[in-house]
Amino acid sequence: MPAPSKTRPVESQLEELAREVARCRRCPLHKTRKHVVVYRGSPSPRVLFVGEAPGEEEDLLGRPFVGRSGKILDQAIAQTGLTEGEYGVLNVVKCRPPGNRFLREAATKCRPYLERQLSLLNPQVVVPLGAHALYAFLPTGGKITELAGRSFDSDGRAVFPMLHPAAMLHSPGLRERWERDVRTLGGFLASGPR
Ligand code: URA
Repeated sequence: MPAPSKTRPVESQLEELAREVARCRRCPLHKTRKHVVVYRGSPSPRVLFVGEAPGEEEDLLGRPFVGRSGKILDQAIAQTGLTEGEYGVLNVVKCRPPGNRFLREAATKCRPYLERQLSLLNPQVVVPLGAHALYAFLPTGGKITELAGRSFDSDGRAVFPMLHPAAMLHSPGLRERWERDVRTLGGFLASGPR
């Protein structure tokens, strides 16, 4: 995989990466995917939202968070005050796992793609959504329910975990917690983290 170039536009490097991912056969998920799901958003996002893996609608459309969880996420993003060019959305795993069961092997095989996206997009703040996304930034462990809604530093970058938006669909009781965390994220972003 090529190292990020300082002279070529980020947009063309992101497109090249998307073409590479589309050819990927590193794990069994390539056999069942309809589309790879790589990225949506700004080529220079201040905030990067990181989900787990694409679901059925994402697989059909080839874009992250376009189904029911995506609606919840987009609403939350708007509530934080972020506007179009300020954020991006991607997943740790780029292909849909059958039955939506997160596959650790896929996360390991996709890791170089995630690293490359982080280095090209270079966001100020990363927001992992749910336990599997959190694990990508905090492999020493930690419970998402304890860590969601506050920030920590990972390799010099601010990380602000949140619950996974799909949790709201399965457990409506979590809605209050989610909304509180969304307000806290809005305040955190307004405080201008570096
Ligand atoms: N859940 C995720 O983690 N990612 C998506 O893109 C959709 C649902």
